[in-house]
Amino acid sequence: EALARLEVLEPKLKSFLWIGAEAALEQARRVDAKIAAGEEIGPLEGIPVALKDNLCTQGVPTTCASRILENFVPPYNATVVEKLAAAGAVIIGKTNLDEFAMGSSTENSAYQTTANPWDVTRVPGGSSGGSAAAVAAEECVAALGSDTGGSIRQPASFCGVVGMKPTYGLVSRYGLVAFASSLDQIGPFGRTVEDAAILLEAIAGYDPKDATSIKTEIPNYLDCLKPNLRPKGRLRIGVIQETFGEGLEPGVENAVKAAIEKLQELGAQVQVVSCPTFRYGVPAYYVLAPSEASANLARYDGVKYGMRVPDADNLLTMYGKTRARGFGAEVKRRITIGTYALSAGYYDAYYLKAQKVRTLIKRDFEKAFAQADILVSPTSPTTAFTQGEKADDPLSMYLLDLMTIPVNLAGLPALSVPCGFDERGLPIGMQLIGNLLQESTLFEVAYAYE
Ligand code: GLN
Repeated sequence: EALARLEVLEPKLKSFLWIGAEAALEQARRVDAKIAAGEEIGPLEGIPVALKDNLCTQGVPTTCASRILENFVPPYNATVVEKLAAAGAVIIGKTNLDEFAMGSSTENSAYQTTANPWDVTRVPGGSSGGSAAAVAAEECVAALGSDTGGSIRQPASFCGVVGMKPTYGLVSRYGLVAFASSLDQIGPFGRTVEDAAILLEAIAGYDPKDATSIKTEIPNYLDCLKPNLRPKGRLRIGVIQETFGEGLEPGVENAVKAAIEKLQELGAQVQVVSCPTFRYGVPAYYVLAPSEASANLARYDGVKYGMRVPDADNLLTMYGKTRARGFGAEVKRRITIGTYALSAGYYDAYYLKAQKVRTLIKRDFEKAFAQADILVSPTSPTTAFTQGEKADDPLSMYLLDLMTIPVNLAGLPALSVPCGFDERGLPIGMQLIGNLLQESTLFEVAYAYE
């Protein structure tokens, strides 16, 4: 079914960079045979799942939507890919993204622009836009993305699906191509909270191959899904005041406020909380993330991976020309900013300062969580914008990340759940933020709401 939909929809949507139709069919037939033989199957067996193309897949191209990795075929699987395979999921293909996950619209892909299934003249959000669009259009049942500053939650909200960024360290990053290692997390997309919970349960867990992996018991997330919220007043929800300010589209504001009222009717105790340092999240992130990226992307030198220009007569020229041709404009911008921010003489003024801001943001969250069990905000100040609208204005694109970025800076879990439509019929997302390792609470509230 998924393959049939892919055939019809892909020419318009362009969610996928690679589709593995034959292997997927073969695997599906094996599951059919199991069912016919009366064998029991797990919750993910035979389920078509898509992977963002920055997750390494053995024997299958992994491009990060970059020219520099055009012909790169990893010799190993990311841990999450191994785990999905072990659970019997069918990997149906690799999805489009902003090059190296840098962007908020999937327009920074070197290969194609993905369309928003709700209005194909608009962007699906980013950087995991391909995964979000594929799930929304039912080209697959669920998908994985990565979230460094909002790249799962924002496209989930633009495409009307559920997307979750887990606690930093809950899901192994082994085999996820690094963008900003201290912020990157892999997480699930689903059309329902339940689907996202099933997927997270399959991919979470300690992994010795990731030095930042947390040793913790993984709860049974499905057990948290109950039709009713906790008894009246037992769940405290904090509405983050600062996320309802300037620049918020009225359609988004109305929908999220209505969703909060519904949570209240369900029995939650709602109060307003303040996180005054949130407004420094975007500037701090756009120093820290490019700094880490400039170091992580130093490995693409034409020697170890992917493309190498044929027309260089010495090593240094080869490095320079390969990187000049292999990277797109946004990636170059970030490498340049990051290299500058980390250079001697500027380090204290930019990188160190941004790290201090990161600590202040963490403290704001700690204070807020003393008052509330979960925090609520819109996921994005706007709904999906039209293709090309912001492509030449990186700053206006960066500013859209203001609600999602603080969560990554503090390493917290958060999800985006659909909460209605604006006057143009475009989906809106509400962001629920949990304290460290409180994924169960997020699923509980999102499920009761949904
Ligand atoms: N939009 C943000 C950026 O461009 C976040 C990207 C992400 O989470 N990968 O960096």
